[in-house]
Amino acid sequence: MKRKIAIGLVAATVITTTGLTARSLAGAPTVVSAVVSPAVAAAAKTLDLYFIDVEGGQATLIVTPAGESFLIDAGFPGDGTFNSKPGAPEQARDAQRVFAAARDAGLTQIDHLMLTHYHGDHMGGVMELAQLIPIRGFIDHSAPSAEAEVVVPGTLALYDAYVALRAKGTHIDAKPGDRLPIKGVDVVVLASGGDVITKPLSGAGQPNAACTGDGVPAQEKTENPRSTAIRLQYGKFAFLDVGDLSGPPLFALTCPANLIGQADVYLIAHHGGADGSDPSLFAAVQPRVAIMNNGPRKGAQAKTFATLKAMPSIDAWQLHRTLNPGAENMADERIANLDESTSAYIKVSADTDGSFTVSNGRTGFKKSYRR
Ligand SMILES: [Zn+2]
Repeated sequence: MKRKIAIGLVAATVITTTGLTARSLAGAPTVVSAVVSPAVAAAAKTLDLYFIDVEGGQATLIVTPAGESFLIDAGFPGDGTFNSKPGAPEQARDAQRVFAAARDAGLTQIDHLMLTHYHGDHMGGVMELAQLIPIRGFIDHSAPSAEAEVVVPGTLALYDAYVALRAKGTHIDAKPGDRLPIKGVDVVVLASGGDVITKPLSGAGQPNAACTGDGVPAQEKTENPRSTAIRLQYGKFAFLDVGDLSGPPLFALTCPANLIGQADVYLIAHHGGADGSDPSLFAAVQPRVAIMNNGPRKGAQAKTFATLKAMPSIDAWQLHRTLNPGAENMADERIANLDESTSAYIKVSADTDGSFTVSNGRTGFKKSYRR
């Protein structure tokens, strides 16, 4: 496509390829590149979110209209299992997929990496990714709990490697209520290290009639409930990402009162596992779109599908068709990968007025959600 872009007093025609929008922070250019120019960032009007297929782990790349990149988790290490070790970045399945999305967004660096928690399906790919593209800043809950290694062996080895990498950049130890310094969006930390906000966000705090009992117990009790969770606001658009938050800290966000308000897009807790299926959170947040970052057999449990099917106002999208027993998949057009032969992402592009478009990277199918 051809675009006319004004740079100061000079009008230049810049050729861009689809999806290749420059968002480098290198500063104003003196020479206009034929393909990539930071000036294009000024023309970009949408907040873009890539839900990258890391086969049941998490990697969510957010690029703001101000040109900043915010990556939440980076999938598994190596060949993509909990037993894999970080290895050569050229062969790293998930780091390569994150890198491909970063290139699609025209990025030359990751400005902020947030690790929701210290499990291999979330932090495993970071060390390899850092060899493919520079990572400048790190956000996390500082350290795993003492029991994490007992429950998930290998956690500490990955954590030690991560700490060595983190020392080369800036570091934020996120606390509930903190605002993250990401330009162009308002990102508030809802939970981190097992603590959650205790006061409602502005405009929230209403009692939640859908709360029953104490919620669903966490399937994994050492690191998942310590996930760092955020709510991101861009104009009237809001995105909720809680990582693998589960058990009492997840329940406390919306029960007995809704402390976090509503969100247009919700990345379902813990890959759509049963401990993320409590209807009370969906009732409080009222997402228009809920996304499951599941794998063929990871996350996406039958209970979560049952919750979603009972709430027809929510459009659910999946990164994978699930083979889990009893799980009722959504329509194929809203599933990014029908099997493991593809590794397509789901992309959300949002405007300040709250409207957004969700696209299926496998088929090109798009659905717009208007205010
Ligand atoms: Zn996980």
